[in-house]
Amino acid sequence: MIRTNRIFPNNQAQDQKIAGIFENINKDFLNLLKNDLLKPKPLLVCSGGTSSRCAAEGHWTLDLRGNYQKVEFNKATQEITIEAGVNMQQLLEKALTFNRSFPIGLSGKTGIGYILTGGISPLSRKYGLAIDNILELSGVWGNGEHFRLLKPNNDTNTQDKLKWKGLCGAAPFLAIVTSIRLKTYKLKPIYAWETSLSPSQLAEIILMAENWSNSASLYWVWGNKIKVYGVYELDNLEDFDNYKRLINEIPKSNDFISYKVDNISEIGNLLSSNIINKPFDTQHSEVVGLLGPKLNNRIDLMIRHIEKAIKVRPSEYSYISCQQLGGATIKKGIDLSSFIHRDSIWKPWITGSWNSADIQGRESSIKWIEESWEGLKSFFPGIHLAQLHPHLNWHSKEIKTAFKMWLPELKELKSNYDPKGILPPL
Ligand SMILES: Cc1cc2nc3c(=O)[nH]c(=O)nc-3n(C[C@H](O)[C@H](O)[C@H](O)COP(=O)(O)OP(=O)(O)OC[C@H]3O[C@@H](n4cnc5c(N)ncnc54)[C@H](O)[C@@H]3O)c2cc1C
Repeated sequence: MIRTNRIFPNNQAQDQKIAGIFENINKDFLNLLKNDLLKPKPLLVCSGGTSSRCAAEGHWTLDLRGNYQKVEFNKATQEITIEAGVNMQQLLEKALTFNRSFPIGLSGKTGIGYILTGGISPLSRKYGLAIDNILELSGVWGNGEHFRLLKPNNDTNTQDKLKWKGLCGAAPFLAIVTSIRLKTYKLKPIYAWETSLSPSQLAEIILMAENWSNSASLYWVWGNKIKVYGVYELDNLEDFDNYKRLINEIPKSNDFISYKVDNISEIGNLLSSNIINKPFDTQHSEVVGLLGPKLNNRIDLMIRHIEKAIKVRPSEYSYISCQQLGGATIKKGIDLSSFIHRDSIWKPWITGSWNSADIQGRESSIKWIEESWEGLKSFFPGIHLAQLHPHLNWHSKEIKTAFKMWLPELKELKSNYDPKGILPPL
């Protein structure tokens, strides 16, 4: 069935005059894919609808939120299977019912786009990226053929390994994933803290965080001020002393608070005090996510670059944030995913924002993102493709930087499994 009315959480997606919406992957829909009848291409896919690229002017969207809502927990294996319309909050709530957890990101509103594009969680330093926790994937390739793949082992043939690698981190270019089976983890106590810091204090805490245990992770956002957040998952009761020691050592200001959260989804509420979650219906934005290794003695220089970028940001809703990886994200799944920048321990992202009616403001913001990216490139040479930008002139640069040496093989996969370019271009 085709619908034209819809509500996407992303303002920019919501404001597009789209061709229409498909809600089912049925025989008719598959026929359109197989016979290349869908015009214009690419088809856009919406799971959580939080990115600007789940709907675009004049294009069709396959919206999976209505009809792909199944979520099942297997008590024997402690694994969870979700369909593609289930968001991260729903996934976590199901796991919590069984005293289990999953490394979701900073927002429970994101859909499986979060998992498929990598999935960096405040718990990733312990449990890996979301893609590292996938056990099974099902869906439909861009060529209309169904697939079901299990996480490769030593007996898996090379082609299936390549397909898996492509889907874990680059699925939006190859396939429509309809169902994912995932590992879960024992629910453990989590503490969080937040404080405002000066640029030199931020430099100080970044240096400390580069040597923290995998139980701790740092997140900061630099907009009107610098707000810093920390998350610490306790392994056992004795670990609380380690948390207290960390808290004593870090720089802080008068607004410092520390508290226990019931689960990782409450971390998203940490953001409520800054601009990210405020419902600016008229505000559009684009985001570019960078990746980089330990900064060591280059932290001060990096901070000066960000300070310079923030001074010239085009709007007060434009900002630069950063979350921490490392630990398990470095060791796990190197050959099994398209997330190739495994040496990364920082993911800064640059958000350029403008009023939806302000065409000049859009141009300035896009230019600011590009210039800020250029300024930070030597510190953070990789790209995390959590958002796609085929509509912007940096798309090709972004793709090359995200996939590097893996790109030729990824393109070959695309020519086999999405030969007509039904899905976004690589
Ligand atoms: C408030 C907020 C907080 C965030 N925090 C984090 C974080 O902590 N860590 C992190 O890693 N990222 C984070 N992100 C980024 C987010 O995970 C990505 O933008 C992700 O792609 C969003 O997925 P979605 O399903 O919600 O979005 P959608 O807009 O529905 O989809 C995003 C992209 O994925 C593709 N896609 C969606 N569903 C499918 C499918 N079923 N099969 C194939 N392709 C599909 C689409 O083509 C689209 O281009 C955050 C985003 C927001 C808005």
